[in-house]
Amino acid sequence: MAYAAKKVFSATRLPKNTGMSAWVAMLPPRIERSQLNRDVTADVVIVGAGFAGLAAARRFSQLDPELRVAVLEAGVIGEGAAGRNSGFVIDLPHEVSSDDYGGDSSGDGARDLAIHRRAIQLVTEMVDEFGWGSDIVEPCGKYNIALTPEGDKHILDYAGQLKKLGEPCTILDRNHTIALTGTDAFTSALFTPGTLMIQPAAFMRAFADALSEPVTIYERSPVISIEGGVGGWQVKISRGSVSARHVIMANNGHANSFGFFRGQLMHVFTFASMTEEFDPSRLGGERKWAATPASPMGTTVRRVQGERGDRILIRSRYSYHPTIAISERDVSRAGTVHDRKFAYRFPSLKGVPMEYRWGGAMALTRNSVPAFGEVEPGIFAACGCNGLGASNATATGIAVAEMVLGAETPLTKLYATYDTPKALPPQPVMTIGAKANLAFKEWRAGIE
Ligand SMILES: Cc1cc2nc3c(=O)[nH]c(=O)nc-3n(C[C@H](O)[C@H](O)[C@H](O)COP(=O)(O)OP(=O)(O)OC[C@H]3O[C@@H](n4cnc5c(N)ncnc54)[C@H](O)[C@@H]3O)c2cc1C
Repeated sequence: MAYAAKKVFSATRLPKNTGMSAWVAMLPPRIERSQLNRDVTADVVIVGAGFAGLAAARRFSQLDPELRVAVLEAGVIGEGAAGRNSGFVIDLPHEVSSDDYGGDSSGDGARDLAIHRRAIQLVTEMVDEFGWGSDIVEPCGKYNIALTPEGDKHILDYAGQLKKLGEPCTILDRNHTIALTGTDAFTSALFTPGTLMIQPAAFMRAFADALSEPVTIYERSPVISIEGGVGGWQVKISRGSVSARHVIMANNGHANSFGFFRGQLMHVFTFASMTEEFDPSRLGGERKWAATPASPMGTTVRRVQGERGDRILIRSRYSYHPTIAISERDVSRAGTVHDRKFAYRFPSLKGVPMEYRWGGAMALTRNSVPAFGEVEPGIFAACGCNGLGASNATATGIAVAEMVLGAETPLTKLYATYDTPKALPPQPVMTIGAKANLAFKEWRAGIE
């Protein structure tokens, strides 16, 4: 392929997953897709096989079944952030960085809803097409749950916002919340029916398995540079490359590592722990439920039940890491917080230890918009998950494929209304400000 004026975007960092995610650990071993070890050509190359990357691959192949799509994943399917989250594919407005989930009835709330529902439509279509069971996806809705009078107030406010949006929800009083959770630590809850719950690692594996020729996925194939210009790009890994006309950056915060959206993406990590299997007679209530916190910066709790027994997942803590990497120490520090939150919520499970602990990366923008669109001629970004990638990044992946192929859809129209990500303050002000802001919000969330 001949290039007019060669440009080179080299990766300054590659992704690294820290801590063992329970979701992967609880699955049987799987045969990985092969690494790329030669030079190949394709029509489109996608960097990253998370929600955005796989959703883009599926949408490309729906729009043009002949299109040769190569997906290059640095790690292993299901082991990145998309496979190590809490598994909520949320339909409603749910801004983790806001004070109230951003569930207003203004244009933004309605736009979020439409975008999240497009992601949910993709998942639902795949459930029907591939016959996935409840071990992969469950259309069971979710709870917002409170522990304090302040939390109860958040629940009522959120219910009011949802009402204005015309969205159904049910408030559970204290007794009903105890009946659901089996513990009297919680004071109220709000049920909303539209969320899908996934076993995230199983979902990402099933998603990858659902993509077939001419979509090819290469695992353990980290992209180290993108070279070329008008006419085409060569996307290189250490032992091979893919030459293609279009490149999709679906690697979330690591778009920064190639120099894209510099100074526009905040690299925030969050953390989870999952208990060992416990005897279900030790905790009443329902055997499966999932709850996000009443206050957005609070603690997510999920009770899971399956082949690996009854377990509790606790997801809590947000921390800012501009290097897009965390240490085992960061995971263990968050684990101490998780243990405290778990003990407070589930006194009847005293002594049940955590078996798995892990953390994962998210990329937030200051104005909560995606890092989306053409960043160089022929290079497109589907990044900036804003903490809710199961719905946001999935929709962004769909939208980028539609945009590249010139398909005008309700989704591309919505994406056309987004502003570009606002510039963040320069360093070190950014680090100091982000750390102080997260610490303050977590302090304000208190035991929630
Ligand atoms: C503990 C935890 C709980 C969470 N809970 C939820 C939840 O319940 N619901 C929700 O919506 N969100 C949740 N999130 C956030 C969610 O996981 C992310 O928003 C989502 O994974 C972002 O999707 P993505 O496709 O944009 O990026 P990712 O999932 O990060 O995928 C990007 C992929 O790109 C790959 N990559 C990066 N650089 C390269 C390179 N150079 N070459 C090749 N590949 C590369 C990475 O390995 C990665 O697999 C949670 C996150 C964590 C950590």
